[in-house]
Amino acid sequence: MAGPSSDGISEKPSKENVDLEALVLQALAAPDRLEAIARDNGITSDQLRKWTEAYRDAGAERLRALQAREGRLSVAMFSTQAYDRADFERALAGSESLHFRFFRERLTAETVDLAQGFDAVCAFVNDRLDADVLEALAHRGVGAIALRCAGFNNLDLAAAQRLGLTVTRVPGYSPEAPAEHALALILALNRKLIRSHRRVAEGNFSLHGLLGFNLYGTTVGIVGTGRIGTALARILNGFGCRILAYDPEPNDACRDLGVRYVALDELLRAAKVVSLHCPLNSSTHYLINAEAIEKMPEGVMLINTGRGALVDTQAVIQGLKSGQIGYLGLDVYEQEEELFFEDRSFEIITDDVFQRLLTFPNVMITGHQGFFTRQALDAIAESVTTNLTQIARGQSPTDAIEAR
Ligand code: NAD
Repeated sequence: MAGPSSDGISEKPSKENVDLEALVLQALAAPDRLEAIARDNGITSDQLRKWTEAYRDAGAERLRALQAREGRLSVAMFSTQAYDRADFERALAGSESLHFRFFRERLTAETVDLAQGFDAVCAFVNDRLDADVLEALAHRGVGAIALRCAGFNNLDLAAAQRLGLTVTRVPGYSPEAPAEHALALILALNRKLIRSHRRVAEGNFSLHGLLGFNLYGTTVGIVGTGRIGTALARILNGFGCRILAYDPEPNDACRDLGVRYVALDELLRAAKVVSLHCPLNSSTHYLINAEAIEKMPEGVMLINTGRGALVDTQAVIQGLKSGQIGYLGLDVYEQEEELFFEDRSFEIITDDVFQRLLTFPNVMITGHQGFFTRQALDAIAESVTTNLTQIARGQSPTDAIEAR
């Protein structure tokens, strides 16, 4: 079996070192199994450790080599919609460094071959960037991943780092866009705007069932006061709401607005409206579950524009059935990757949980459009192309995601 060549994996793998590369990738993906992998393949763990380290260094090396090569970067953009393409083409106009190819396909283990030969990929919220896909990307010569979103719950960061992949995201594009969408859901649910408009369109001017409540003076709980949560706090402050917040890292901008930071438990017990703006990770998965719902006041309004799996959808359905949840506004959904961003109006939707949600008169769902404003799209294209240009020039990208 051959070891890595002196310039590492930038060399086209020969038949012999493909096997070695697969072994090394296995060891990188599961470092605690390194000894077992070495044993199973009849080599010493020291040997495998040495090759693994060489390969990891070569990942970064490869990127540097790519950058050095004429300062150009070829980028495969996945999950591209027509509006994305138009924005990126505008942002790329005149760029000598970046060459984009646009793919409609979502990035998954089945479509990863499309990235063969590209230096970087540009991915969105429902592209799959788990350890298997990342290994496959690294194996196909990709050295950088530019996420065109703020959240990165769909990416295995530890695996990306083991593989020497550079990862960037768009942390601060127009946080007002999703914050204002959360507000739109709150107002539309509260004042029953869809039902009201339908009635008026049919000549029915009855107000029965349309009773709302003043936001002024209402206690609203914001879970996660980063960029978006803080933007929402500013807006709700203007409405005269009493704002409670929960965030392990409170900020002064919210405190200055008069936001009161409390424990999550207290927020859930006190708030008439709860809006979720924390990232999805192992500690926030199903943050709103049956137990949390039980703590909330009867008839609470729950708004989720964060990520679908922040709420346990089955528990929420039970809460809606019992009346514990009085209003539900969703812009994200646990299983959205199989549904959102495509016209499925001629298909039979087989997700019974999603279909059940749609039967409730007090539920409003939008298809992950919180980010979708003119200003945000421009800022996303600008930020992604800036970061990729920095990589192409051999500079550290401004918005690299580092492991904590
Ligand atoms: P951010 O990083 O600026 O803020 C996240 C905040 O959550 C931070 O203050 C952090 O301390 C806090 N946090 C972390 N763990 C927490 C926990 N367990 N409980 C409460 N708070 C916690 O991120 P952001 O730009 O405000 O975005 C927030 C999330 O919104 C993103 O991660 C993404 O999932 C989602 N998002 C959705 C859309 C959309 O179109 N619907 C658009 C952009 C972002």
